[in-house]
Amino acid sequence: MKVCIFGAASAHIDDIYIKKVEDLAEKLAKRGHSLVFGAGATGLMGAAARGFKAGKGYIHGVIPEFFREEGVEVIFTDCDKMTYTETMSERKRIMEDDCDAFIITPGGIGTFEEFFEVLTLKQLGRHNKAIAIFNIQNYYDGLEAFMKQVYERKFINFKCYEMYTYFNTAEEIIDYLESYKPEDTPWQKLKIGD
Ligand code: AMP
Repeated sequence: MKVCIFGAASAHIDDIYIKKVEDLAEKLAKRGHSLVFGAGATGLMGAAARGFKAGKGYIHGVIPEFFREEGVEVIFTDCDKMTYTETMSERKRIMEDDCDAFIITPGGIGTFEEFFEVLTLKQLGRHNKAIAIFNIQNYYDGLEAFMKQVYERKFINFKCYEMYTYFNTAEEIIDYLESYKPEDTPWQKLKIGD
């Protein structure tokens, strides 16, 4: 399966996040999965790529051309396939189309934007891929509480609220992705806007 991993670019985060994502990525690679990601060399993007390398997995990096002008050190260049795009939105579209599942690891606004885009597209029935949130160090507890409030106040419906799942361990994420059956998901039976 082709797994798209979104996550922090920041090089200043605690090592625990790095270790957990490297470990998840290596385990995914060893189970025969491949990586699609934003081709950053730092933060959790770098961790995902190094983990896949360690597990001898295939890597597709997708990054806008303008990052090259900022200096190659921000780019993870050791990918099996590298796609340079003109814009950030083109890059996101390629990452979204070229994968079978999404993993959201801790990140900043870039990661949030990517998460909400794939969630919005799923809500609109544009894809039905698994979305797993890796809640390392309870990083996403605040998001979970906020989304509960959004649901309880009826700004989103139940199908949207249930479209993604939080996980604390790499093993649970891998089990979820490998056993995910889009046709079993409850929102399949609902119409857009229900
Ligand atoms: P952030 O969560 O704000 O650190 O942004 C990380 C996400 O946005 C990644 O999943 C990337 O797709 C994209 N992104 C942001 N900054 C960079 C960067 N310096 N290099 C590559 N991708 C980046």
